Amino acid sequence: MSRIAFVKDARNPGSYVPRDRAGVSIEDRGFLFSDSIYEVCEVRDGGLVDEQRHLDRYVASLNALSLASPMPIRSLQLVLRETIRRNHVRNGVLYFQVTRGAARRDHAFPDPPVQATLTVFVTPVNTTVRDARAAAGVEVKTLPDDRWTRRDIKSTSLLPNVLAKQAAREAGAYEAWLVDKAGFITEGSSTNAWIVTDTGTIVTRPLSEDILPGISRSIVLDAAASLQIPVEERVFTVAEAKAAAEAFLSSSSAVLFPVVGIDGVAVGGGEAGPVTLRLRAFSRAISQVSGAQLPSI
Ligand code: PLP
Repeated sequence: MSRIAFVKDARNPGSYVPRDRAGVSIEDRGFLFSDSIYEVCEVRDGGLVDEQRHLDRYVASLNALSLASPMPIRSLQLVLRETIRRNHVRNGVLYFQVTRGAARRDHAFPDPPVQATLTVFVTPVNTTVRDARAAAGVEVKTLPDDRWTRRDIKSTSLLPNVLAKQAAREAGAYEAWLVDKAGFITEGSSTNAWIVTDTGTIVTRPLSEDILPGISRSIVLDAAASLQIPVEERVFTVAEAKAAAEAFLSSSSAVLFPVVGIDGVAVGGGEAGPVTLRLRAFSRAISQVSGAQLPSI
């Protein structure tokens, strides 16, 4: 059982607390305004996967919101490792979030600034379920992308993502693939979207403010380069995706899941395709796992 969280805020200089009693102020700006950013990293064999890439994106997210890290990066790394260690999680997902802190409710930033809030927790993943999903593939449902225009920032403003995921689940699909006004797929509600063409080229939307720069997306691109699989970073329509040889999605928690159906239309004969499975295996193999052996602090 995962039971220990880390909290640092105006009332708490930073401590590990029972997760069910961990809390922040009702005036916390993350709670009131989603004035906050977050990261989700895979935990594998007790270590953090692709930690440096997550930390780089964390800093980019902070900068986008003019937030400062509540602690030096090296200290944060120690807290992340210690949270994993205290919870005895071998395989799971680590979540951490920074908000602008608690202050009298006013949309403008507090002046003077207040202590930012940092929360960290880790949740074990059932690897049997995940690996079964990776072998069998998942269905996705397409829905309009009605999010704000700065989807490149990993902020906690996720209401449209939540509603899209729920609509997908109610339709019996695992994920929602979001579609822009021109009919092109942007990404999933919590994953990046990919197709494989008849000629074996993998296609994914180029980075812009339209999508999150997924860490697993960057790993899949590295894997494709190593495997000499051709890549096109370009937009693609729902019709092209439905007619594709293969499709898949990527995220830190899934790594890579084959997509075997879109809106009930079978993709790749309704089975995980060979390019997808090669990329999944290689992406896992080249991921950097750090911190697993670090002693406790
Ligand atoms: N796109 C969105 C909207 C996401 O929320 C996520 C992950 O949460 C991703 C893509 C995948 O990003 P990553 O590979 O860093 O997990």
